[in-house]
Amino acid sequence: MIDVNYIRQQFPILNRKVNGNPLVYFDNGATTQKPKRVIDSIVNYYSELNSNIHRGVHTLSREMTIEYENARIAVQKFINATYAHEIVFTKGTTDSINLVASSFSRAFLKPGDEIIVSEMEHHSNFLPWQNLRDEKGISMKVIPLTKEGELNMEAYKKLLSPKTKLVAIAHVSNSLGLVNPLEEIISEAKKHGAKVLIDGAQAVPHLRVDVQKLGADFYVFSMHKLYGPTGMGVLFAKEELLEAMPPYQYGGGIIKSVTIEKTEWADLPNKFEAGTPNIEGGPATKAALHFVNEVGMGNIAAYEHELLTYCSDQLGMIEEVEVYGNIKNKAGVISFNIKKTHPFDTGTLLDNMGIAVRTGHHCTQPLMRHLGIPGTVRASFAVYNTKEEIDIFINGVKKAVKMLL
Ligand code: PLP
Repeated sequence: MIDVNYIRQQFPILNRKVNGNPLVYFDNGATTQKPKRVIDSIVNYYSELNSNIHRGVHTLSREMTIEYENARIAVQKFINATYAHEIVFTKGTTDSINLVASSFSRAFLKPGDEIIVSEMEHHSNFLPWQNLRDEKGISMKVIPLTKEGELNMEAYKKLLSPKTKLVAIAHVSNSLGLVNPLEEIISEAKKHGAKVLIDGAQAVPHLRVDVQKLGADFYVFSMHKLYGPTGMGVLFAKEELLEAMPPYQYGGGIIKSVTIEKTEWADLPNKFEAGTPNIEGGPATKAALHFVNEVGMGNIAAYEHELLTYCSDQLGMIEEVEVYGNIKNKAGVISFNIKKTHPFDTGTLLDNMGIAVRTGHHCTQPLMRHLGIPGTVRASFAVYNTKEEIDIFINGVKKAVKMLL
């Protein structure tokens, strides 16, 4: 059980009006709003702790290094990684995937090796692999989708072979909210000795994730979609892989020693964190996870499921609306269009009513092409949303139907 009023009080932005109406924020898949403790942690950092981390002997630097490393431990516990040094901080999901594409490929891939992705991937989990194909001669195979947009698992199994070195797949689709069958995806990949990267950007805000239980080799996400700061991403990778992979970027902070002849890399995870990081993102990350843990991931999942069902049922009753990805196992997201209209028009009309939704291809153009549409209207939920907001949204969609058709 959650107390949604108590939760809402913690998000200052939810008090503001948009176009004369109370804000209804249903664009959480793009980024969530931030609770006061996250905002306060950033103010506190600049008021009390501002210093560079890891290499200072002075008090501020030592204090802040501990704060930053405590954030790593908080992430480790949140996803149940074995070691804190299996958590690499990056700029976000995109940065984490680019790190793996660059570093894993240099350590492990040669021309002719194969990577498998799917047709539903966010461009962030598509372009880095396509680029490896075009620049390095690595083959990229794409799992096709069913009519509803689910992964065609039979086709996936046929794509796997001893040449498959990596399967890179979303945990939850950002455009349709479909939850992919990770257990089967991972166990099939392992039969062929392939590593697996899971793009968890749209999963960690809605589901409990245990990387040890999953058995994924890489799991990536962005804190800004999880009530946390922008510029703070997570790459979880198994220790033995990080040990074997070369640095992604080169610069300060990643070395044990440098001579003109050679360099010895720092221990994990510092080898992968060149340059000054998003320091204030450390305490802000810890504060965001504190918020999520306090509410409870199980409670968040159950409550959001209620919201999703409530909204889907009502949208489904509007004859002029087409809902995409209409299957049971979904998290956080509903995608739809008012038939024969462009999603931008619906989005603009809803915005006039103070309702924020996302419109367009959601950085999944191959998926949109599969569905035969230019884009969708996407409503995505967070734990501070309410059924009353969904009522406002459904009324808004009905008004838009009248205006557009
Ligand atoms: N992957 C998925 C599934 C996403 O939904 C997103 C963002 O919407 C990303 C990757 C990219 O995340 P970021 O822009 O935080 O790097």
